[in-house]
Amino acid sequence: MKLNVKNIRYLAADDWRVLTAVEMGSRNHEIVPTPLIAQIASIRSGTGVHKCISSLAKIGLIAKVKNAKYDGYRLTYGGLDYLSLHTHTKSKTVYSVGNQVGVGKESDIYVCADETGKQLILKIHRLGRISFRNVKANRDYLRNRNSGSWMYMSRLAAMKEYEFMKILRREGFPVPEPIGQNRHTIVMSLVNAFPMRQISTVGDSAGLYAELLSLIVQLAQHGLIHGDFNEFNILVEEKANEEDDSQPPTLIPTIIDFPQMVSIDHANAEYYFDRDVACIKRFFSRRFGFTSDEPGPYFRESIKVVKKRLDVEVEASGFSRKMAKDLEIYMKSVGVDGDGGADEKDSSNEADEEDELDDGVVADVSGDEEGFGAEEELDMPPATEYKANETL
Ligand code: ADP
Ligand code: MG
Repeated sequence: MKLNVKNIRYLAADDWRVLTAVEMGSRNHEIVPTPLIAQIASIRSGTGVHKCISSLAKIGLIAKVKNAKYDGYRLTYGGLDYLSLHTHTKSKTVYSVGNQVGVGKESDIYVCADETGKQLILKIHRLGRISFRNVKANRDYLRNRNSGSWMYMSRLAAMKEYEFMKILRREGFPVPEPIGQNRHTIVMSLVNAFPMRQISTVGDSAGLYAELLSLIVQLAQHGLIHGDFNEFNILVEEKANEEDDSQPPTLIPTIIDFPQMVSIDHANAEYYFDRDVACIKRFFSRRFGFTSDEPGPYFRESIKVVKKRLDVEVEASGFSRKMAKDLEIYMKSVGVDGDGGADEKDSSNEADEEDELDDGVVADVSGDEEGFGAEEELDMPPATEYKANETL
C-alpha cells in the first residue's frame, strides 16, 4: 500500500467532513450507507455530499461496496492515511512527507519533516495486510466483533507502540523520541543509524553484545520483554572516537518496534525472553563470529530484582488490558511473530489464505487492490539519505 499524498492539498473542507463521516460511520457499519454519510457530515445540499463522495472515491480514499442489502462506502487505508496526516498537520507534528524507508510485514515507514525542516519518521501501521490464519477460535473471536477490523487493529498497534515508546524514553532506554500519534500512525525522531542487519563488521562486538543483552535484562527488570529483539529492530550508530581515532568507533544501539512487547507476567514471558536472547546470540555468532563463554542471561535470574513495573503503568495509560488482548489475539492469528517470522512462513498456508479471501474475512481489509501478504523486510538505505519533499 503506497502512500500517495499528492491529493491531500486539494481536498476542501467539505471533502474532509465527508471523509470523517465515512470513518465515523464505519465504527458500527462495515459498509456505511450513503444516507448515513450525508447525515453524519450534515452538509445541507444533497448534491454537495454526492460530489464529495464521488471525488473521494475517485482518488481511492473511500470505496463503493455493493451489498445485497444496501449500497454504501467503506474507508480505504488511503482514506485513513489522509485523515491521520491531516490531524498531524493540524497539530503541527508533520509538515511534509518523503520517501518510504522501510517496509515491514505490518507497517510502512516514511521520512517526514516538521515545519522547521527537521527530519522525522512516520510509521504507518497496516494490520490486516496478512490474512487471519489457522486458529479458528481466534478468527471467530475477531470476526464477531468490530474489533477484528484492520482499522481498529492498526490503531491499537500504533497506540501501544506510542505508549511504550514514551515510557521507555522517559526511563532512559535508547528508543526514538515519540512525537505524535494519531489513528494508525506514529511520528518519532529519525535515528541516524543502520539496522544491525545491514552491518557486516563491528570493532567491538563483545561490547555491543554485552550492551544488548543488558538491555534485555534491564527491560525485564522494568516489567517488560521486547518480544522481537532482533537485528532488524536494533539500529546501530557508529560514532568515531574524536579524541583518539586509532580507537574503534563507539557503537550506539537504538531499539525500535514495540507493538508486540509483553509483560513479564505474560504466560509465555520466559519463552519470549529466551527467544530475544537467542536472537542476539545467533546473530552475533553468524555475522560477527562472536560467541560469549558466559551462559544466560536467564529470565528467572533477571526478574529477581524488579525495579519498576512499566507494564502495569502502560495498562493504566489508556492502552487498556482489553485492547492489549484484542491486539495479541490478532497478532497470534495472523502469525505475526516478529520480523524473523518471515523465514518460518511455510507455503502450506497459502491455500488456506486463499480460502479466507473467499469467506470474506480479509477481502476488504487492506483497503487497496495491491497484493497483501507477508512482505520481506528489505535492505534499504538509512532513513537519513531521504528528504521529506512533499508538502502537505
Ligand atoms: P516493522 O514493525 O514493520 O518491523 P519497524 O518499526 O521495525 O517496523 O521499522 C522498519 C524499518 O524502518 C527499520 O528496520 C528501520 O530501517 C526503519 N526505521 C524505523 N524507525 C526508524 C527510526 N526512528 N529512525 C530510522 N529508521 C527507522
Ligand atoms: Mg521491525
